[in-house]
Amino acid sequence: MIHPDDRQPMADAFVVQLSGNTTFDKTVPFRLRRGDGTWEWFEGQSTYIANISGHPYRLVGICLSIQEYKDIENTLIEARKKAEESDRLKMAFLANMSHEIRTPLNAIVGFSDVIASTYNELSDEERADFVRLISINSEHLVRLIDDILDLSKIESNTIKFTYSCCSLKSMMKDIEKEQAVKQLPEIEIKALLPDDIYINTDATRLKQVICNFINNARKFTEKGYIHFGFTSHSEKDQLVYLFVEDTGEGIPQECQKEIFDRFYKVNTFKQGTGLGLSICKTIVEHLQGSISVESEIGKGSRFIVTL
Ligand code: ADP
Repeated sequence: MIHPDDRQPMADAFVVQLSGNTTFDKTVPFRLRRGDGTWEWFEGQSTYIANISGHPYRLVGICLSIQEYKDIENTLIEARKKAEESDRLKMAFLANMSHEIRTPLNAIVGFSDVIASTYNELSDEERADFVRLISINSEHLVRLIDDILDLSKIESNTIKFTYSCCSLKSMMKDIEKEQAVKQLPEIEIKALLPDDIYINTDATRLKQVICNFINNARKFTEKGYIHFGFTSHSEKDQLVYLFVEDTGEGIPQECQKEIFDRFYKVNTFKQGTGLGLSICKTIVEHLQGSISVESEIGKGSRFIVTL
């Protein structure tokens, strides 16, 4: 009945005992097979009773189930592992953040210094160029900080999700109107809308996710289209699919899982924080949905939220 891994220590304990050294103060943990085939942890303690000539003739002891302690021990081990892992992630996050913040900040400080110290020596063109670079980097910094605040609010559970009945058609139409203001010359940005569907969700957060997909699509598409909208395959399964599809550069197969990780970017030289999709994923999970991507290099990508 003793677990194969525990047989030797058990046998050793008996040998020690029979050699005349009492081991009552020493416990031996071991597993016994239960009737249902599973193992339960016990702890044995025993001593021998000697006859008149000192020869051991009987073993007396107790056998105590310590399964509950073992379960608690395992929970504690798991908790320690988790704490160590989150400590490691925190350190990695801080190191990464310092780098991510420093890069645009250095550009802002550097170019402002150049303008301040050599204002009169610069041509109008050079000055305009430096101001443009300061502006791009400032925008990047603001987005980065917004993303981090969003991420930390979501992760610390201090973000509030407000559910209400939401018309997907009017949400998509609103997004289409907003996108029309910042049209791109060679890209058609259009909502493809079937009959309306109403769902109970946090409309603001859901819209944030779709807009994030569209902003990515704008960044990685040179020409063609960005189409977005929603579908539902059947009323039976009660699922609704929101999508954003582009004819952009696509994402290599081997990176398609990682793009949802924090700070992951396929091309580190492209503008972006690498945080957008991980925020989208967390929001969608809070909304009890899932997020996925289908993509082919050179052809385009389709991001899908299933609710
Ligand atoms: P970023 O701020 O860098 O866009 P995201 O988390 O939103 O951060 O995206 C992570 C990475 O996923 C991007 O850097 C890019 O490499 C890839 N990606 C996201 N959307 C698209 C898309 N529509 N087309 C091609 N690549 C994309």
